Amino acid sequence: MRDAGERREALKELLMTARACTHCAELAATRTTVVFGAGNADADLMFVGEAPGANEDEQGLPFVGAAGKLLETLLGEIGLSRAEVFIANVLKCRPPGNRDPRPGEIENCTPYLLRQVELVAPRVICTLGNFATKLLRDDPAGITRVHGRPEVRTIGAHTVRLFPVYHPAAALYTPSTLEALREDFHALPGVLALPVPAAPEPVEPEEAQPVPAEDEAVAEQQQPEQLGLF
Ligand code: URA
Repeated sequence: MRDAGERREALKELLMTARACTHCAELAATRTTVVFGAGNADADLMFVGEAPGANEDEQGLPFVGAAGKLLETLLGEIGLSRAEVFIANVLKCRPPGNRDPRPGEIENCTPYLLRQVELVAPRVICTLGNFATKLLRDDPAGITRVHGRPEVRTIGAHTVRLFPVYHPAAALYTPSTLEALREDFHALPGVLALPVPAAPEPVEPEEAQPVPAEDEAVAEQQQPEQLGLF
């Protein structure tokens, strides 16, 4: 793993690339800014939300509206500040009218998030709400079922503890959701104190089987097409 300074520089380069991104034509045409993410580039704790809203789009920073205020309050309750954590989103651009992110947009934007995870290299990722949770768990199970339960996950090449919680925006107007979110937040220091998760054992590559002579020519002919797939 590269040192924190190198990872920070690489994160800045990624930011420059993201700022110029036009993969999602509609989002690129309607955004004011690309909301890349913000905070400590070497944080132990990373938050992943859904997508920027109107305030975030205007200011270029994640979670600066009402949901962001709640996030900050909850962080304060466990003795943390925004500056100590890294905050990102599944999408870096605001969906017009705050509509849900579309599957193609999530697909386009995921490489940025995976690289952010690799470069910040947090010990714990707290997913906020359904979109981030389903994406990073790679599972359709909803937040109501999985919130508040830490689990070891390998994201790209990085092994972390994933800790899904309700999205703060969902907690703004629903007291029972706020109660559950607060309870999960108060468990976060304990999750952060858990030992660094061990990476799963590398899977041994299967030994190559000898190719029967007459199949060899066929395999050779097929190779360029196979390579084109990766
Ligand atoms: N909601 C999100 O998911 N992300 C933000 O940055 C703001 C609100």
